[in-house]
Amino acid sequence: MKRLLLILAMLPLFAASCEKQPQPVPDDNDGTEKLADITYQLNVYSFADSDGDGWGDIKGITQHLDYLDALGASALWLSPIQTSSSYHGYNVLDYYSINPKLGTEADFKELIDKAAEKNIDIYMDYVLNHSGRGEWFNNAISSESSPYRSYYVLSNNWSADVYAGRVDNFVGSSNPYMGDWHSASGGDLGYKGRLHFRLDWNAKTVTVTETTDPAQAANPAAGMWLWIGSAGLVGLYETSSGIYEITIDVDTDWGFLVRSSSTEWGSYKWGGDGSSITFGKPFAINNSASADITFGGQQVWYFAAFDSSMPDLNYGPYANASESAAFKDLAASADKWINMGVNGLRLDAVIWIYQNHANANANFLKQWYDRCNATYKARGGKGDMYMVGEAWEETGKIKEYYKGLPSLFNFSYWWTLKDRIGRGKGNDFAATVLWFRDQYKPYRNDFIDAIKLSNHDEDRAGSDLNRDKNKMKLAGAVLLTSPGKPFIYQGEELGYWGTKSGGDEYIRTPIKWTIDGTVPAIGLNGKVDYNMVTGSISVEYQNAHEESVLNAYKKFARARNTHPALSSGSMAEVSCSVNPVALWTMTGGGETLLVAHNFSGSAATVSLAGYKLNSQVVANGDISVSGESLTLGAYSSVVLKQ
Ligand code: MG
Repeated sequence: MKRLLLILAMLPLFAASCEKQPQPVPDDNDGTEKLADITYQLNVYSFADSDGDGWGDIKGITQHLDYLDALGASALWLSPIQTSSSYHGYNVLDYYSINPKLGTEADFKELIDKAAEKNIDIYMDYVLNHSGRGEWFNNAISSESSPYRSYYVLSNNWSADVYAGRVDNFVGSSNPYMGDWHSASGGDLGYKGRLHFRLDWNAKTVTVTETTDPAQAANPAAGMWLWIGSAGLVGLYETSSGIYEITIDVDTDWGFLVRSSSTEWGSYKWGGDGSSITFGKPFAINNSASADITFGGQQVWYFAAFDSSMPDLNYGPYANASESAAFKDLAASADKWINMGVNGLRLDAVIWIYQNHANANANFLKQWYDRCNATYKARGGKGDMYMVGEAWEETGKIKEYYKGLPSLFNFSYWWTLKDRIGRGKGNDFAATVLWFRDQYKPYRNDFIDAIKLSNHDEDRAGSDLNRDKNKMKLAGAVLLTSPGKPFIYQGEELGYWGTKSGGDEYIRTPIKWTIDGTVPAIGLNGKVDYNMVTGSISVEYQNAHEESVLNAYKKFARARNTHPALSSGSMAEVSCSVNPVALWTMTGGGETLLVAHNFSGSAATVSLAGYKLNSQVVANGDISVSGESLTLGAYSSVVLKQ
């Protein structure tokens, strides 16, 4: 019996009914059509390695486009590919360049073009909350006159600035619950940048000011000198009687001294009283205590919502964010990639751009979206640009972000699904999904609910589902039969598991392409669970085995791609008194499909008078029909054409 039913599930055209004429399944599609908007999320550093250096790379993706095409993907979300100081890429050092470990601009252009031939769009991951500590940051903290000074959330006295409401990033809050202020320099004493020194030998004072004037060479015929950091002995120019001056580039971690002899120290060494100078104000010097004259009074602190390697970017008051220098620079960098052919962006950590202030963030995101979409349209992109925000909160808290963006990840979707599969309860699932959607409607009619299981920051779905392949297939089938825009995370379609407990690398495992091949593990510091990454979890093995997790994903993705009711139809709950069974219909494109999933580990039977039960579009697991009753085996799924 079981074997017969499996055959029926796999060969829907031949699933005969005693009472009703089977509906012709309109699935004569050749597989190239992609009605659905399925996106595959991949980690460039660990997806596929084209050159054998142990790092996944852009060419590796291009070489595996057939795989992504067969999986039904019409878009790829790439982990950040810009030059970065971290393997995962979220500390961007230069938004305009490609990380050399991952490839070249030519590689990226080739990927965009080859993917487009398969109707696959490329989405970049854009990090707007913070950058890495690259040239922008180093320049910003080097001098108050740096053109990058406004790019970051900097303060000489952050607690005073916070409580006075002078930190735009905090939108009036004096106590953001995430983030810290960090010292911008290694010590409190040093300075790096261009300074003008004016020694008044009559008054025995020195006045130091920051400047952008040209630097001067040291005076070889000087009568007075500075002793300073990397420059050593610097001869001053006497500009009037007893007044000695110079403009030089300074790089010192301890401060400086004045000397009235180029060879002798002792009483010829002039310093301060142990305090630090204030730029622009005369500072008294002496040759008795003559302590190092330090720059501690100019100590700069920077704010970082995450860790100290990720300084937060500053866009000024949110209502005018697009006028800030940082916004303009980042937008110019995005223009470059959009004009190269990028069709979408995934925006990282949008809650923290303005510290957890939903209205400010949504306002900012609207400005960002409009700017990027204008570039996209000017390029001739089709429709509107896709852009999805990572607002990692419950649905009720993120809905306001739809004022700014067309799409948001629905984290609650997965949190609900794993809870229900864990409890074996499916019959409130459809109502919950509809409730999510109702939350968004007041903010945007055309919202795109980006549904997903786990991602690169969460314990793997496979671990949450106890490494049970039947549960994983069920979760994939639910994802691919729900309304919205589904995202499949690298390895999920193969039944990967992994938790963050040993390091985030364990949830970012490379794809095992062949039964015998190796995986690129250098980027992950070798942190790969080889108990999981075996031959039987490989793509090669799973392609050859009908009952694999991969094939379950493929057949449900194909159903979604070829049936408008699944890809873009509207959902309606079908009331179900059988606790484990989730039931709903999807209607659109002139068809209605009945979707049924069993969230439990035991067979469940539902009575469905008035529904057609014999025209399977796609199924997984044991499905049987008797009269008006549909029986779903443990963790099984079926879609039936009405
Ligand atoms: Mg490589």
